[in-house]
Amino acid sequence: MRNFLFSGLLALTALSASAQPDRWQQRVKYKMNIDMDAATNRFAGKQSLQYFNNSPDTLYKVFYHLYWNAFQPNSSMDVRSLELGKVLLGKDRNGNNRYDWDGRVVDRISKLQPNEIGYQKVLSLKMNGRKQTFNMQETILVVELDKPILPKSSATFDMEFEAQVPVQIRRSGRNNKEGVDYSMAQWYPKMCEYDYEGWHPTPYIAREFYGVWGDFDVTISMDKAYTIAATGYLQNPQQIGHGYEAPGTKVVTAGSKLNWQFVAPNVHDFVWAADTKYTHITKKIDDFTAHFFYIATDTTSKTWPLLPDMMAKAYAYAKTHYGPYPYKQYSFIQGGDGGMEYPMATLILGTGKIAGLYGVAVHEWMHSWYQGMLGTNESLYPWMDEGFTTFGEENILHATIDTLVGKWPLAGSYDNYFSLIKSGREEPMSTHADHFSTNNGYSISSYSKGAVFLEQLGYIIGAANRDKGLLRYYWDWRFKHPNVNDFVRVMEKTSGIQLDWYKMYFVNTTKHIDYALDSVYEQNGSTIVRLRRKGLMPMPVDFVVEMKDGRKVTHYIPLDLMFGAKPNETESIPRTMHDAWKWTHPTYEINLGVPIKDLKSVEIDPSQRMADIDRSNNKAVA
Ligand SMILES: [Zn+2]
Repeated sequence: MRNFLFSGLLALTALSASAQPDRWQQRVKYKMNIDMDAATNRFAGKQSLQYFNNSPDTLYKVFYHLYWNAFQPNSSMDVRSLELGKVLLGKDRNGNNRYDWDGRVVDRISKLQPNEIGYQKVLSLKMNGRKQTFNMQETILVVELDKPILPKSSATFDMEFEAQVPVQIRRSGRNNKEGVDYSMAQWYPKMCEYDYEGWHPTPYIAREFYGVWGDFDVTISMDKAYTIAATGYLQNPQQIGHGYEAPGTKVVTAGSKLNWQFVAPNVHDFVWAADTKYTHITKKIDDFTAHFFYIATDTTSKTWPLLPDMMAKAYAYAKTHYGPYPYKQYSFIQGGDGGMEYPMATLILGTGKIAGLYGVAVHEWMHSWYQGMLGTNESLYPWMDEGFTTFGEENILHATIDTLVGKWPLAGSYDNYFSLIKSGREEPMSTHADHFSTNNGYSISSYSKGAVFLEQLGYIIGAANRDKGLLRYYWDWRFKHPNVNDFVRVMEKTSGIQLDWYKMYFVNTTKHIDYALDSVYEQNGSTIVRLRRKGLMPMPVDFVVEMKDGRKVTHYIPLDLMFGAKPNETESIPRTMHDAWKWTHPTYEINLGVPIKDLKSVEIDPSQRMADIDRSNNKAVA
C-alpha cells in the first residue's frame, strides 16, 4: 500500500515536470519502387515499410488506405456526391439551381469506363517475411496480423501492388483539363494513423487526410520523355540529367526509361506529378529552394515567372508569424485541379490570372504549417487545418499585395460565417469532416468559421497574445498531431486567460453571439448604459465611447469565465476596466460618469472581431 502510494506520487511528479508535450507518435519508413507504364496508365509497385509501434499498445491488426478505389462507379465517394447532388442550395448568379455537390466531381465517377477508373490492388503482403491475410474494403485495407506488434517494437511489411491511374476527378489522376499528364496524389497503399485515440481507418469520400510521419525513399521508373516533380529531394540528378544545371554533365540514359529517386525525411505523405512539357524554374528563398513546375503557354509564361519573388515576400511574413519552414525544398507544381497540399509540395491550378495563382500558392503553402507540420487529424478538426491556413493566407495576402494593404484580412471570412448562419446549414465545427450534412456547411465551417475562431481569439486575449501563441503552438506541437484542446491550452498559457468556455461554445455548438445596446439614460447627471446579451454565447465586451470633444474611452468588460483580462490593445485610447460580466446575467450596466449631452457615440466592439450576428443594435450616435 505504501509502495503503491509512493509510485503514484512519482508519476505525478514526472507529469508536472514535463513542460513540453510528450505525445508518442508512430513512425514509418517507406521504400518504394514504381514501374510506370504511360501507355496503359498503370504501374506495378513494390513497397517495403518499416513500421515503428511507439505506442503503449499491442497491435493485432493494421489498416492501409487505398484511396484510388474511390474512383469507381458506386463507390462511397461516388454515391456521396450523387446524394449531395440532390441538395438544392439556391440559385447561382445566372438564376440556375445550385446543388451541393462538388462541381468538379458531380456524377463523373458513376460514368467512368473500366480503363478510366482508378484502383489499387494489393497482390501480396508479408510481415517480417510471413504472409499475412488481408481484405480490401474499398478504400481501406484490413490486415489481420498472424502475430501482434508489441509496444515499442517495429515490424517490416513487404507489399506488391498494382494500380491504375484514374482519369482525374479530384486531386489525383491523369489528363486533367489543364493538360497535365499525371497528378499522382494518394497513389500508394498508405498505413493509416494510429494515435492516442486508436486507429483512424477513414474511408475516402474526397475529403481529409491524416498520416504517420516518417521517411520516404521512392524510385519511379518512367518513360524518359517525362519530367517528374515530387515531394522529396532528387537523389540522382546527374544520372538522369534532370534538375542539374552544371555544364558538361554526362547524362546516362540507357533504355527508354529513367529511374527517378527521391528521398523525403520526416513527412507524412508523398506526392508526385509527371508531364512531358513541364518547365522547371527554381529560386533560393531564405535557406530552402523553391521549385516551380508548369506547362508554358502564352498565359503561364507571363504569370509563373512572377511567383518566385512573390513567394519570397510571402515567406518573410510567414516565417516571422507562423515559424520557419524547416525543409530544404518546396515545389509548386501545376496539377490542373484546384489546389491541394502535400508535404514539401503542392498541386495547383496553373492557368489563371496572377492574383488567383498567387492566392492559391500562398494558401497551399500555408498548409505546410497546419497540415504538414502540425498535422492535426483533419477529419476530426478540419477547421484547425483549413481555418488556420485561411487565416495565414489572408494575413499574408494583405501584407504583400499593395491593393489589399490596410484592409481587414478577415472580413470575407466573417461574411461567409454570417451567411452560413442565415442559410440554416450550420453544424458544430466539431462535426467529423466526412459527416457534415452538406459540402457547403463543411467548407464554410472549416475555412471561414475556422479563420474567424483565430481572429476572434485575438479579440478575447489580444491580438499580440494570439500571435505569440501561434508561434508557441508551432514550436510546442510541431510533428505531434495536436488537437483542439492542445491548441487552446497553449493560448491559455500564453495569455493567462481561461478559454475552455470559448472552445465549448464556438467549436462544439452552433450558439451565436449577439450583444446589443439595451438603453442609454441619464441619472444624477451621469450617463448609464445598459448592455444586453441577446445571443446564447457569452463574450467579453469592448465598449467604445466617443465624446463630442473628440476624446475616446474604451470600457472593457471581461467575461467571468475568463478569470483574467486582455491587455489594452490600443494604447492611444485609454481604457477603463470593469468587473467581469457573469455569463448567467443577460444585462450589464456601466456608469460612464459624463452627461449624455457630451456624448457623440457609443459602440460595442468597433473592431468587429467579435462575430456578432446583428451589428445593427451595437451602436448609438447622438
Ligand atoms: Zn486548404
